[in-house]
Amino acid sequence: MNVVPSQLAPVSVSAPPSAEELDRALRDASPAEIITAALKTVGREKLALVSSFGTESATLLKVMADVDPAIPVIFLDTGWLFEETLAYRDTLIATLGLKDVRSIKPAEESLSREDPERELWFSDPDACCRIRKVEPLARALKPFDAWLNGRKRFQGNARTDIPVVEDDGARLKFNPFANVSREELEAIFVRAKLPRHPLVASGFRSVGCMPCTSRTAEGEDERAGRWRGRAKTECGIHTMKTS
Ligand code: SF4
Repeated sequence: MNVVPSQLAPVSVSAPPSAEELDRALRDASPAEIITAALKTVGREKLALVSSFGTESATLLKVMADVDPAIPVIFLDTGWLFEETLAYRDTLIATLGLKDVRSIKPAEESLSREDPERELWFSDPDACCRIRKVEPLARALKPFDAWLNGRKRFQGNARTDIPVVEDDGARLKFNPFANVSREELEAIFVRAKLPRHPLVASGFRSVGCMPCTSRTAEGEDERAGRWRGRAKTECGIHTMKTS
């Protein structure tokens, strides 16, 4: 007997958990447990980690590599990075055995149209971050349903209240280090004998693009050297929708 589709029992397909449900369930979870839950929720093909390979990045990359070193890692190579950051990326790839680091560059067409003189960082840093970070990240994240990043609440400003899991408007965003303290990060560095970013030794505590990064003085907030003298505290990848 032929069975027509209307005679088939409905297949029960459970909806994926929402960001709020995941956040409630993972509020007190460890970073490794949060990464494991992200993998389980969307699968490795649909999960990416976004890293700047900055002064604290080795810690999240280490936790991720212990869970699964083949999770894709997206690195935004803005064209204004320190040589030391590019070298550090290669060091961490080798040290941690990262299997899928994708270095993403800005679109040539955007650069020649909007920043032909390479001075946009000075005249309009928000526009510079948009063409060099926000738009390239949005393109790079297209194939993914969720992403991991290394923001911490102790970094202050817009980061003070970040949840463990949020909805960025297009996909799930996991913040495995939302709850961790500076001391716990330091403990990961020491326990795993992780190499430091080469610029830490010369007084840089947070490293981004060359024109927008300066050293911090004793007692200053660790991100005080970013966009010094301007009201800007974020590049936009965590405050704009990435869809
Ligand atoms: S951090 Fe500075 S140089 Fe880098 S993209 Fe933003 S404005 Fe441009």
